[in-house]
Amino acid sequence: MLDLSVVIPVYNEEENLPHLWPELRAVLERMRISFEVVFVDDGSRDRSAEIIRGFRAADPRVRLVRLKANAGETAATDAGFKSARGRHVVTMDADLQNDPGDIPMLVRHLEQWDCATGWRTRRDDSVVRRLSSRVANRIRNALSDENIQDSGCTFRAFRRECLRSLELYRGFHRFIPTLLKMRGYRVVEVPVNHRPRRFGQSKYGIRNRALTAFKDLLVVRWMKDRVLRYDIAEDLGGDPARE
Ligand code: UDP
Ligand code: MG
Repeated sequence: MLDLSVVIPVYNEEENLPHLWPELRAVLERMRISFEVVFVDDGSRDRSAEIIRGFRAADPRVRLVRLKANAGETAATDAGFKSARGRHVVTMDADLQNDPGDIPMLVRHLEQWDCATGWRTRRDDSVVRRLSSRVANRIRNALSDENIQDSGCTFRAFRRECLRSLELYRGFHRFIPTLLKMRGYRVVEVPVNHRPRRFGQSKYGIRNRALTAFKDLLVVRWMKDRVLRYDIAEDLGGDPARE
């Protein structure tokens, strides 16, 4: 089995990709592990897929999963999770805002945790983005009885087996740590670097994020409230062959 799969959702990131792959490759090669990088092209309308095919032609450790049409960041992440083969899985953005140099540290946390999720302690986004995100995190934590500082950060590492139980819906990439905790997995939040977006545009505005994220939050809160919690005390005559 491969040691690590890096899953990267990509939507119109043609300017970022040629910088991202060499930087990422250098970090992964220094780790001395076997790896694959799964770029999930989420129906880009620019040259992103073509660029990734070029990486693949030069290095078979690169993979391209291309969705037929734009389906959103959670869908792209889900497709990447399903095709990842590594024992560990890292997710990151394609826009160079996450620093590949943090990957060894994130993966090291998997020795003791099932998931390590990034916390952008010195975030390099506009004041409006930073403030709205702070408010969103406060509301999210208060309403869903959570204590995650930065649920919008999708720079994360996972043991792959815990992803199997995840059932994701659109917008749920923000709630993956909460969904894992609900299933009893151990999640740690760790500080990560954050860099400005140099090329291309953020795919989200304040409005398309705030309203849908709030509706999603109410659903996750309900799920958390209603999740099945029980321990079997006795199972006389159960079939031992049944897994
Ligand atoms: N993305 C995607 N599909 C979408 C929107 C975004 O695959 O419909 C990707 C995007 O290319 C990037 C990541 O998801 O790699 C996060 O998007 P973005 O950087 O725009 O979000 P932000 O960091 O501004 O919250
Ligand atoms: Mg980004």
